[in-house]
Amino acid sequence: MSHLSILVTGGAGFLGSHLCDRLIEQGHEVMCVDNFFSGSKENVAHLIGHPRFELIRHDIVRPLFVEADQIYNLACPASPKAYQYNPIKTIKTSTVGMVNVLGLAKRCGARVLHTSTSEVYGDPDVHPQREDYWGNVNPIGPRSCYDEGKRVAESLCMNYHLAHGVEVRIVRIFNTYGPRMHPDDGRVVSNFIMQALHNKPLTLYGDGRQTRSFCYVDDLVAGLMKMMNQDEDVGPVNIGNPTENSMKELAETVLKVTGATCGTTNEPLPQDDPKQRCPDISKAKRVLNWQPEINLETGLSRTVEYYRERIRKGEL
Ligand code: NAD
Ligand code: UDP
Repeated sequence: MSHLSILVTGGAGFLGSHLCDRLIEQGHEVMCVDNFFSGSKENVAHLIGHPRFELIRHDIVRPLFVEADQIYNLACPASPKAYQYNPIKTIKTSTVGMVNVLGLAKRCGARVLHTSTSEVYGDPDVHPQREDYWGNVNPIGPRSCYDEGKRVAESLCMNYHLAHGVEVRIVRIFNTYGPRMHPDDGRVVSNFIMQALHNKPLTLYGDGRQTRSFCYVDDLVAGLMKMMNQDEDVGPVNIGNPTENSMKELAETVLKVTGATCGTTNEPLPQDDPKQRCPDISKAKRVLNWQPEINLETGLSRTVEYYRERIRKGEL
C-alpha cells in the first residue's frame, strides 16, 4: 500500500492512540485531531516530534479544513460516565461532528471509517447480535445521547454515501479494553483493575450476571484497518470478541491475574444497563478475514502491567 495522508479524529483517546501508532508504523502521515475531552496528550506523547505525526487540538463540532486520503472518525467519549457528563455535547459530536467529517471527506474525496458501537443494539432481544438486527434502544433514557447519536451518525454515513458517493465504512465496535484506557473513566475493565491494584473490593453492579464480550485493543485496531482497506463492503460490520463473560466472571479473572484478595462488593445496576451483549462476527470473518487472537487473560495481564507501571511512576 502506498503511503497516505490519514486523519484520525479522537486520535488522543484510548483506541485512537493505538491506531495512530499502527498507522505511523506503516509509514503513513498521521494527523491526530482531538479536543482532549476524554483523551490526553500523554497517550500520543511518544509520537510528538515524529516527522510524519501531527497533533491538532480541535473540536469536530466545528468544521476542519485539512486534506486527507483516509479519515478514521473516532471522536466521541465512549464510557457512560464520560458521555453522560455533557449529553448534549455528546449528541452534537456524533451528529454535527459527523456532518463536518463527511463534508471534509466529500471535499477531499477521502474514505471515512466511522466507529459506531454495539450500543446501537441497545438492550438486545436477539442474541448474539448480527448486523441486520435493528436494536432495542430507549430513545429518551440516560444512554440515548450516545446510542441515538451513533445511530444518526450511521444514517449520515449511509446517506452521504448514497447521495454524494462518499466512500464510507461503518464498524460497530463491541467492548474493547487495553493499555491507555482512562483509569477512572468508569468502564468495567479499568474500574476492576484499578480497584484490584489498590486492594479495594471490585464493584459489581447488580448481581453481576449481565454479560459483555471483551476484545483486546490490538485485535480491534487490526479489524478497523482491514475494514478501511477493503473495497467490498461499506458495512456495518461488527468488530469484537465473541467470547462472552458475565461481570462476575470478569471480576474473578481480574482477581486471578492481579493476585488481589480484595473480593467483590455489590452496587446498584445503572438504568438501562444492557443484560447481555455478544457480537456475531461471521461477517467480519467472511468479508475481512478477521477474528480476534488475544484471549481475556492475556489481554488483561498486558493491561494490568500498563497500570502497574503508571502506579510505579507515581502517575496514578
Ligand atoms: P476515548 O474516550 O478514549 O476516545 C475518544 C476521543 O475522542 C478522546 O480522545 C476525546 O477527547 C475525543 N473527542 C471527544 N469528543 C470530541 C470532539 N467533539 N472533537 C474532537 N475530539 C473529541 O474512547 P475510545 O474507547 O477510544 O473510543 C473511540 C471511539 O470508538 C468512540 O467513537 C467510541 O464511541 C467508539 N467505541 C469504543 C468502544 C470501546 O469499548 N472502547 C466500544 C464501542 C465504540
Ligand atoms: N460494571 C460493573 N462494575 C463497574 C463498572 C461497570 O459491574 O465498576 C458493569 C456495568 O453495569 C455493565 C458492564 O459492567 O453491565 C460493562 O460496563 P461498561 O461501562 O464498561 O460498558 P457498557 O455498559 O457501555 O458496555
